[in-house]
Amino acid sequence: MKNDKALVVFSGGQDSTTCLFWAKERFAEVEAVTFNYNQRHKLEIECAQEIAKELGVKHHILDMSLLNQLAPNALTRDEIEVKDGEEGELPSTFVPGRNLLFLSFTGVLASQINAKHIITGVCETDFSGYPDCRDVFIKSLNVTLNLSMDQQFVIHTPLMWLNKAETWKLADELNALDYVREKTLTCYNGIPSDGCGECPACHLRQKGLEEYLQEKGEL
Ligand code: ZN
Repeated sequence: MKNDKALVVFSGGQDSTTCLFWAKERFAEVEAVTFNYNQRHKLEIECAQEIAKELGVKHHILDMSLLNQLAPNALTRDEIEVKDGEEGELPSTFVPGRNLLFLSFTGVLASQINAKHIITGVCETDFSGYPDCRDVFIKSLNVTLNLSMDQQFVIHTPLMWLNKAETWKLADELNALDYVREKTLTCYNGIPSDGCGECPACHLRQKGLEEYLQEKGEL
């Protein structure tokens, strides 16, 4: 797949940063795209910018403030609390159609920069019930994007079937474990690296890291 160009959907978090390293190993040319939807934490965008710069990846930031207007939720509004969904409910961080919109705009950008490959860190294993993180949705959208633009895009989802411990393992195999651990921001309270330790995103990240380090015999 060398000589082919790839575009990574990139938020500056653990998952998409791992995907960026994954893509850099596989494709001759890699660019990244970050969506600005007036996230609660501006730092997310700054983290993404810094990582892209350090890894020498051309970085596109697209304005998606429309999403905030359509779907006020815990990721965009200070007054809405971040919490896991009650039984049968989606978490308060769910934005309906977010991946549909992000991946559609990614497709448009990929077409403009002549990138055949699109990489996204969505994952069905830890998907918390987000319908647009499912493999069947991604496969369906891949077909739709190709039909809509008469293109031959290939959407790659390297994390689709991994749990958080396995995602850390993948980062380690890419020689990026320390980098991902120190530089990325996953925490809903906007604290980079190991985060606040209290929010659902930190719990998931920390639990996965402990599991992986234990398995590796380093804990
Ligand atoms: Zn946190």
